[in-house]
Amino acid sequence: MIFDTHAHYDDERFEEDRDALLSSMPSRGVGAIVNPGCTLESSRFAIRLAEQYPFVHAAVGFHPENCHDYCPEQLAMARGLHDEMEALYRPHLDTAALDALTDALTRELA
Ligand SMILES: [Zn+2]
Repeated sequence: MIFDTHAHYDDERFEEDRDALLSSMPSRGVGAIVNPGCTLESSRFAIRLAEQYPFVHAAVGFHPENCHDYCPEQLAMARGLHDEMEALYRPHLDTAALDALTDALTRELA
């Protein structure tokens, strides 16, 4: 089984063939994909993909190059998405990573 540990199928470049591509993954031997969000929007999209495709696992977060317009309200919104993921009982949920991010971002703002 192939485990794709980092993919961005939420990217607009997959707009035309995303469903066909993701639907074909199990028959191509891909058993799991982690789709990390880079912004709040892409994190939301990643969760939608995880809901639609059971082998896709979302991660909520901010990519460093997308942090330029970060504000504390976004972190609160990210926690909301985190709660949404917990509701899905996703086993890959990494609360320690989100806590570490919270600590790091809080230190930067202090
Ligand atoms: Zn990435």
